[in-house]
This record gives sequence, C-alpha cells and structure tokens, in this order.
Amino acid sequence: MVIGAGSFGAWTAYYLQKSGRSVALLDQYGPANSRASSGDESRILRMGYGSEEIYTRWAMRSRELWVDLFDAVKQPELFQQTGALWTPPPAERRAAQTRATFEKCGVEYEDLSMAELESRFPQFRFTSERIGIFEPASGVLLARKAVTEVAAQAVRNGVDYFRQAASAPRAGRITTSAGDDIDAAVFVYACGPWLPKVFPELLGGRIRPTRQEVFYFGTPPGDRRFAPPRMPAWIDFGDERCPYVLPEIENRGFKIAFDRHGADFDPDTGDRVATGVDGARAFLRERFPALADAPLVESRVCQYENTSNGDFLIDRHPEFKNVWLVGGGSGHGFKHGPAVGEYVAELIDGRAASEHKFSLAAKTLERCRSVF
Ligand SMILES: Cc1cc2nc3c(=O)[nH]c(=O)nc-3n(C[C@H](O)[C@H](O)[C@H](O)COP(=O)(O)OP(=O)(O)OC[C@H]3O[C@@H](n4cnc5c(N)ncnc54)[C@H](O)[C@@H]3O)c2cc1C
Repeated sequence: MVIGAGSFGAWTAYYLQKSGRSVALLDQYGPANSRASSGDESRILRMGYGSEEIYTRWAMRSRELWVDLFDAVKQPELFQQTGALWTPPPAERRAAQTRATFEKCGVEYEDLSMAELESRFPQFRFTSERIGIFEPASGVLLARKAVTEVAAQAVRNGVDYFRQAASAPRAGRITTSAGDDIDAAVFVYACGPWLPKVFPELLGGRIRPTRQEVFYFGTPPGDRRFAPPRMPAWIDFGDERCPYVLPEIENRGFKIAFDRHGADFDPDTGDRVATGVDGARAFLRERFPALADAPLVESRVCQYENTSNGDFLIDRHPEFKNVWLVGGGSGHGFKHGPAVGEYVAELIDGRAASEHKFSLAAKTLERCRSVF
C-alpha cells in the first residue's frame, strides 16, 4: 500500500506494481491536489546540481522515464523541452562543479559568455557580470497533469486507487478514514509535507514544511519573447533572493518565484493567498524590463517539505520493518519522481543498496541547506 499520490507516491505505486506486486494507492485529497506539493501547473526538470552527482544522474534517468510515460499515454506535451539556463557570477564554485559533473555524466550543455547571453536572450537585463550554462535537453513538466497521468496509468496497469486518508501504522497495520483496518506486506508513506503530521515524534523538525509563493504575470499581447522556444526555464542562484522563472506555457503567464525558504506552513489549513507580489514585481522590473508593468494573472501558495540539508528521505521506519518513509523533496523533488519510484521498488525487493544520504539517520534538526 502506497499512501500519497504526489510525484513520489504515484511513481512508487507504478513501479511496485511493475515489479509484480498487488498495489493499492491512497490519497486523502486526490493525486496532485491543490494542497499537494505536486499540485501546481509546472515544475522545472534540470540536471545541474553542482557536485551532487546522484541528483544529476536521477534527473537524467527521470527525464527518460517521464518522456516514455508521456509517449505511452500519447501526451508528449506534458514535458516541454524549453532548455534550462543557469546564470551564475563567473567565479561561482557551483558553476565549475556543475560543469565537472556534466562532463562525467555525459550531460549535454553549452557555456555562454555575458555577450552571448545578451545576444541570445535579449529579454533579460543583467545588472552584474554573469555567465551562462545552458542545458538544452532540460525543460518543464506540466506537474499537476503529469502526476494525474502517472496515477491513471498505474491504475490502468492494475493498481487500486482509493481517495481516503490513512492513519499512522499501529503494530504494522493502518486504519483508513473509511474505517477499514488494513494489513499489507509493505506500507510506503509518501506523504510529502504531511509526513511530520503523520509521524510527529519521528519527523517533527526533521521535515519542515515552508510556505512558498508563485506568481504568473501576463505577457504583452502577441508577444512570444517569454514563451518557448525563445525563453527557457531560468535559475539564478547568484542572486540572494534565489529567483527562478518558467516560460509562458499553455498561455498561463510568465511564472516567477523565489527559492528562499518561507515561513513554517500547515498543508491542510494554511492560508493560500499570496502576499509577496510587490517583491516579485520589483524583481521583474529589474530583470525583465518589458514586463515591468505586466499584470498578475494568477498566484499560488505551495509548500516545500525541507529536510535539514535538502537530501530526500527514503528509509525504513525504525520500529516497523514493513513501513517505508519516502519524502523530503525540499523544493527540488518533483522531477525525480520516476527515479525515486524505481529506487524504492528496488530497495523493497532487495535489488538496490540503501544510500546513506537518504537515511533517517542523516536527517538532523539543523538547518544547513546544501542541495538545491
Ligand atoms: C513553489 C514550488 C516550486 C517547486 N519547484 C520545483 C521544480 O521546479 N522542480 C522540481 O523538481 N521540484 C520542485 N518543487 C518540489 C516538488 O514540487 C516537491 O518536492 C514534490 O512535488 C513532492 O512530491 P511528494 O509526492 O513528496 O509530495 P506531495 O505532492 O505533497 O504528495 C503527497 C500526497 O500525500 C497525500 N497524503 C498525505 N498524508 C496522507 C494520509 N495520511 N493519507 C492519505 N494521503 C495522504 C497528500 O494528499 C498528497 O497528495 C517545488 C515545490 C514548490 C512548492
């Protein structure tokens, strides 16, 4: 039984079924619902992770698996190959590390000078020296629709889906909101930001949900400069606000957000009216002058589920051997859903070795983010 049908849980159910098991998937509000971390319209799929090679490899593997699934369900548009652009200051350490990892893993990329950046992407206005690292094979996943499709495909393959809430395990069994008392060989809790609510003693403080705002701005009439192929996904960790943008896709507007951690947040009851539009607009004015007066057309409040340093949590429950904990996406997990699902199915079957970085033991109460 897999509890939680977000990017991590839907893919885990998909792969557990593929490995020959009989699988039930439960979600209290439905796959990629409006409160889930996977519930927004779009998420970036990029390969750059500095020296964190495992995430580069998982992003490469996941890209392949997302595209295979979208082809199988005849919806290739759920991955938009917009490219992903990084623009660090020339001396940033992570830029050199990212290039080295790309060389080692065989990720295609282009180096761009400041002059090349300015001529290729004239929509941007940089106020300090930058270089570009461009990943042509990366892009944007249509998140909400993509997860809905993974869950639907898992069901077509034989997974049973139920819209129900599950309790924490007691003596290796669980109770659902429908009152059923359920025993299963394996329970996987892929509950995203709800994990510390389900397991408060174990995970309280170790997975910390934070409030994150996302803004969609309207582009000028007929203007295609902010849509693919002219506009890629863009990440600017050289700026302390950690801004990133996604090009206009499906006519939803130009999306902008900041990767800094917001305030603590309750995914069930948290208020989802965005308040930071002035900051987003100020940034837009500075970096994309043509959008200085763009109207806000939509906004969302989502949540990250942060571990101490940004590494995922994928481990067995310390008390119940048939219970697994899968989460801690920490603002970068969505793209990795397929690789996570595949890995969890292999771990449960004893076909993969466990990675220390994903262990519960590696999750401290400290806040020292190192994976972005
Ligand atoms: C603003 C924002 C931008 C982001 N940008 C990116 C990006 O560009 N690229 C990227 O790769 N990642 C990004 N992320 C991170 C990514 O979205 C998350 O890491 C990922 O979606 C987490 O998926 P999940 O399956 O762990 O959790 P969720 O999607 O939250 O799914 C958990 C599910 O579990 C269900 N559930 C919980 N408790 C129970 C229970 N007791 N019983 C039944 N069901 C239960 C919930 O209803 C929910 O559907 C971003 C996140 C945010 C908020």
